[in-house]
Amino acid sequence: HAKAAGRNAFAIFGAHMEELLRRRRKLEEALRQALMDGTGIEVCYQPVYATSDGAVRSLEALCRWRHPELGSIPPDVFIPIAEEAGLIQALGQFVMNDACSLLAEISDSDVTIAVNASVIELMAPGYPLRVLDILARHGIEPRRLEIEITETVATDSGGRAAAAIALLRSVGVRFAVDDFGKGNSSFGHLLNLEVDRIKIDKIFIEGLASPDGRPLIEAIVNMARHKGLKTTAEGVETIEQLEVLTMLGCDNLQGFQLSEPLRRDNVARLFGSAEKRSSTV
Ligand code: C2E
Ligand code: MG
Ligand code: MG
Ligand code: MG
Repeated sequence: HAKAAGRNAFAIFGAHMEELLRRRRKLEEALRQALMDGTGIEVCYQPVYATSDGAVRSLEALCRWRHPELGSIPPDVFIPIAEEAGLIQALGQFVMNDACSLLAEISDSDVTIAVNASVIELMAPGYPLRVLDILARHGIEPRRLEIEITETVATDSGGRAAAAIALLRSVGVRFAVDDFGKGNSSFGHLLNLEVDRIKIDKIFIEGLASPDGRPLIEAIVNMARHKGLKTTAEGVETIEQLEVLTMLGCDNLQGFQLSEPLRRDNVARLFGSAEKRSSTV
């Protein structure tokens, strides 16, 4: 009986796996389709505030996907699918294109946009050239683009990601280490990366409530300053966090307390668009 029950359980498990795989393939197909005809995928932009004067001079591009039947699917779900299905490069280029066309609409050339890139994109041959091509097509100076990567690039043994970063930085594109402090990140990895900014993960910002919270952020900010890097705190949700982070010397703040990610239509209004500017002269 035990054997039969085991076989039965295995059959149920198998059917369950098959169902999961089927759903997964359906999502992959839908994402592929969405990327091909550009429907259902949208890029939102979250304002990033400077602690020095409270101004917004930067935005982070965040990808959104609305499935025709399943509704909105979070990036934490569809980015890994895109990576595994070989769609992450198409997705990355879609977002980069949207970001650069938005930059072209913002007349203030001090405004920059940060775009997230997957390690897989960075390691792909030709990545730097594709980025430069998109910048050139929209007439955007490289220094207006920041690329957010995770520390996992430091573990790329072939050094391809590092080479891509070095090439792009040599023409003025900036790089940030995203989600610092999350998962298995370490100061060691960070020291091996040539970047311009550290984004302190929201896990540390939440941790500000505990006694060790403050010294930890202080250590990160000091280490960053020592290396000549800027710091952004992510996931700022309260006034108290905003005040402490400002006091500790974080350069930039990002979070729901300041602004949620905005639809693209609502972004140009923050700065006044290039078109508006020229039509009034
Ligand atoms: P991330 O790059 O760390 O982006 C910040 C995430 O925190 C965003 O989630 C943002 O909506 C969210 N957030 C902002 N302020 C707050 C806050 O005050 N509290 C909390 N709890 N969350 C806040 P989102 O948009 O769901 O994106 C999740 C992740 O998906 C991103 O994390 C990024 O790693 C990835 N992602 C998003 N768009 C892209 C993309 O175009 N390409 C790639 N490769 N990854 C992307
Ligand atoms: Mg990011
Ligand atoms: Mg990220
Ligand atoms: Mg992050």
